[in-house]
Amino acid sequence: MSSTQTRTDVILIGAGIMSATLGSLFKELVPEWNIKVFEKLDAAGEESSNEWNNAGTGHAALCELNYTTENADGTIDISKAVNVNEQFQISRQFWTHLVNRGLIENPSAFIRSIPHMSMVQGEANVDFLKRRLEALTNNPLFEEMIFSDDPSQLEEWFPLIMDGRTSDEPIAATKIDSGTDVNFGALTRMLFDHLTSNEVEVNYGHSVEDVKRLDNGHWEVKVKDVSRNTIETHTAPFLFIGGGGGSLSLLQKTGIPESKQIGGFPVSGLFLVCKNREVIEKHHAKVYGKAKVGAPPMSVPHLDTRFIDGRKELLFGPFAGFTPKFLKTGSNLDLIRSVKPNNVITMLAAGAKEMPLTKYLIEQVLLSHDKRMDELREFIPNAKNEDWEIVVAGQRVQVIKDTPQGKGTLQFGTEVVSAEDGSVAALLGASPGASTAVHVMLKVLEQCFPQQMPEWEGKIKEMVPSYGLKLSDHPDLFKSIHESTAVTLGLEEKDMVHN
Ligand SMILES: Cc1cc2nc3c(=O)[nH]c(=O)nc-3n(C[C@H](O)[C@H](O)[C@H](O)COP(=O)(O)OP(=O)(O)OC[C@H]3O[C@@H](n4cnc5c(N)ncnc54)[C@H](O)[C@@H]3O)c2cc1C
Repeated sequence: MSSTQTRTDVILIGAGIMSATLGSLFKELVPEWNIKVFEKLDAAGEESSNEWNNAGTGHAALCELNYTTENADGTIDISKAVNVNEQFQISRQFWTHLVNRGLIENPSAFIRSIPHMSMVQGEANVDFLKRRLEALTNNPLFEEMIFSDDPSQLEEWFPLIMDGRTSDEPIAATKIDSGTDVNFGALTRMLFDHLTSNEVEVNYGHSVEDVKRLDNGHWEVKVKDVSRNTIETHTAPFLFIGGGGGSLSLLQKTGIPESKQIGGFPVSGLFLVCKNREVIEKHHAKVYGKAKVGAPPMSVPHLDTRFIDGRKELLFGPFAGFTPKFLKTGSNLDLIRSVKPNNVITMLAAGAKEMPLTKYLIEQVLLSHDKRMDELREFIPNAKNEDWEIVVAGQRVQVIKDTPQGKGTLQFGTEVVSAEDGSVAALLGASPGASTAVHVMLKVLEQCFPQQMPEWEGKIKEMVPSYGLKLSDHPDLFKSIHESTAVTLGLEEKDMVHN
């Protein structure tokens, strides 16, 4: 066992998309700051940010029906969809800045244009989709969305879904061509390459085991060098906990009041992956359906064209699952170890309240390949069992906390928890996740560095021209930003079709 003491300005725990984004923002704003990263695995982007562990949807609420809800009077509430879209525009602008400055190259290795569609069946759902389209297209961010319930048009949009469909139930879809598929694993690795070549010390195979506040207000992390089995300590005035599912336990170790009465509930994901090239080539869209009754919002079924390692792939899912692990590479004791005296009541309240979710997860875990294929056949009537295999996706840890809605409320969003003095911040939750990484990390800066923000704001506006504005209130600015980011990121839809 050895012990070293090293002083630095920022410590980032975890080498996923969140730390990659925060590190890149720091490098632009204060290049002279010393940054250290500790990642327990041997490479960047191996947990939830990995391309096979998430769905790669550039979440901009262009196809996800769960971001628009129906009010009691039949009108459609689009506020959540607008927020998610605004947040994705921030990511697009920052990625464009990085490409324009030559800090990352070859954007087609991480982002591709792909139509986003929402598909529904049954009269009531078709009616909802029409009213939703009307509400959305009044907003400039969604202006180009179109609707069809004409089978011959739908046949063109998604032949695999229409082929062999015998039901005479009405079916309809919306389509928007400016959707994206994002390879968050590739992006994370590109950002870490950029960081390492700019003097950020990235330590792989280093697991943070403990976190402690020192008398001078700085943070000390105790880090295990996994291969050598040695312990080191490192200190910094600012600590970011970007451990994905591993964040909750590290946040609890900080002991900050903001970490109390928070629990986590793990939900794992599985995808069906198509092995038949002929079938893969017949589909070219991300098509999102409606969640089944009782299913959590992240279990909305979708049929996704993906671009991974320059190759087109086809995935369906996610199916939910349950394991007590908080990371895919975590321990079966993660859930039980996360229960502390200060959150046990919150956790028990959630357990009692979330019985339908527990029931749903148990049913999902027990699904056979045949049953999962039956769910796929609701999308692709002619899907053959032998063309598809199951892959295990990433782990999400949903936040449980006490809210005005009651004790132990399960949260489905992404949350930044930070200390009052801004010296430590942790990212919890998973949705809409990676797509909104830039918005979320800017929030970390706003919460933790209020004194520096006036000085940083000009530079942030250079990187994200719409910073501080709602693009939906500035249609001309939206159009110009949307076009310029599309050009830099290579997203001119027509050119990319079937590439
Ligand atoms: C099934 C599924 C589908 C999804 N689909 C989408 C999607 O379509 N679009 C989208 O935008 N988002 C999606 N997400 C969410 C998205 O993947 C996550 O929000 C995002 O990847 C989280 O990034 P992160 O950096 O916080 O965590 P991660 O990528 O999980 O990185 C955390 C890192 O911290 C490391 N770590 C943990 N504990 C320690 C420790 N003690 N010491 C050192 N290192 C540690 C881990 O090894 C890991 O590398 C999906 C997630 C899942 C699970």
